[in-house]
Amino acid sequence: MASVTLTGAQKRFGNVTVISGVDLQIADGEFVVFVGPSGCGKSTLLRMIAGLEDFSGGSLQIGGKHMEDVMASKRGVAMVFQSYALYPHMTVARNIGFALETNGMPRAEIARKTREVAELLKIGKLLDRKPRELSGGQRQRVAIGRALVRSPDVFLFDEPLSNLDADLRTEMRAEIARLHKELGVTMIYVTHDQVEAMTLADRIVVLREGRIEQVGTPAELYAHPANEFVASFIGSPR
Ligand code: ADP
Ligand code: MG
Repeated sequence: MASVTLTGAQKRFGNVTVISGVDLQIADGEFVVFVGPSGCGKSTLLRMIAGLEDFSGGSLQIGGKHMEDVMASKRGVAMVFQSYALYPHMTVARNIGFALETNGMPRAEIARKTREVAELLKIGKLLDRKPRELSGGQRQRVAIGRALVRSPDVFLFDEPLSNLDADLRTEMRAEIARLHKELGVTMIYVTHDQVEAMTLADRIVVLREGRIEQVGTPAELYAHPANEFVASFIGSPR
């Protein structure tokens, strides 16, 4: 696990500024949830942390090390997306272990790690199946497995459950909370879902037009939203 520090983070696409001066310190092992309206920059900020977008200004440290010149695959960060495109022609085992094939890890070691991750995610019996033979929830477990097998210090989730139906969302939410507890890994999680934010977060970051509107624990934001905008996301009656 590792701390994550953003200092004056900025992102422009052409001459449009989408992240404008974000300062945020995330502790080792913390679970931080980003909320905010569509287009406010949540995905962009995650992608900047992951190394999938460069910074137009400001800096990023992970585990106390500057990351600007560190490529995505060397950051100790793994991301789970909303549209978890699995490789349709590969088995579950290979979908999970694929990222390890490219860095020269011996086959037996890949198989061992894949099995360990699959057991942790309770898909150990599905390793020989193809994605089309899985339910939505099982597929999402494979997607999480693909990230987990890389033993990241920091886990990024971009609305990972928004394609699932309500029952599955509840099940997978509990699963992610359990993983966080068992692994103690730092997690940054984007969601539209208030219940997810309130139940998963150590702290919630409310974003608006590329800036932080308020940061606090769910209880703090619920009891003391800074304004109507924050209240509308945290659901405190005002
Ligand atoms: P969110 O995830 O909060 O919905 P995004 O981070 O996806 O928001 O987008 C923030 C803003 O940046 C939006 O206005 C979006 O249109 C813009 N944006 C995102 N990616 C790009 C890109 N590659 N090129 C141009 N504009 C982009
Ligand atoms: Mg997004």
